Amino acid sequence: MAVRITELCINCDSCIDECPATAIVSASDSPINGDTTYVKPEKCIECADSTMPKCADACPTEGAIVWDMPYTAEFQSYYVAGHESGLYNIREHKKNGIMFPEVSPKPYREAIALVSRQAHTPVLG
Ligand code: SF4
Ligand code: SF4
Repeated sequence: MAVRITELCINCDSCIDECPATAIVSASDSPINGDTTYVKPEKCIECADSTMPKCADACPTEGAIVWDMPYTAEFQSYYVAGHESGLYNIREHKKNGIMFPEVSPKPYREAIALVSRQAHTPVLG
């Protein structure tokens, strides 16, 4: 991933247009519940080439955007489990199948410690 949007989100959608990877969709377009703005982990690049994640920079709500695990092959089973439990709904590609990390890994911010990711600490804008 990635970053994840939590239940603290107020659905203001300020983050959507800021995302360079078109990874964020509004609650009404969420593939998991329709309640909360949603980040597609298979698209999020953590704004790794920028000084900070642009979604968090635009977000007015502390704790609405938190760190998740890197979207890399090392975390394949984590994302498969999340997909199966309904935490994510990862896109299925016609030819390549579900775009899990082993199929399509994404850049991530190496400076963010795994313990911070596991604890889903807020992404600071
Ligand atoms: S971290 Fe960057 S790429 Fe990921 S959802 Fe936020 S704005 Fe989009
Ligand atoms: S900017 Fe923050 S509060 Fe607004 S929709 Fe995005 S995550 Fe939710």
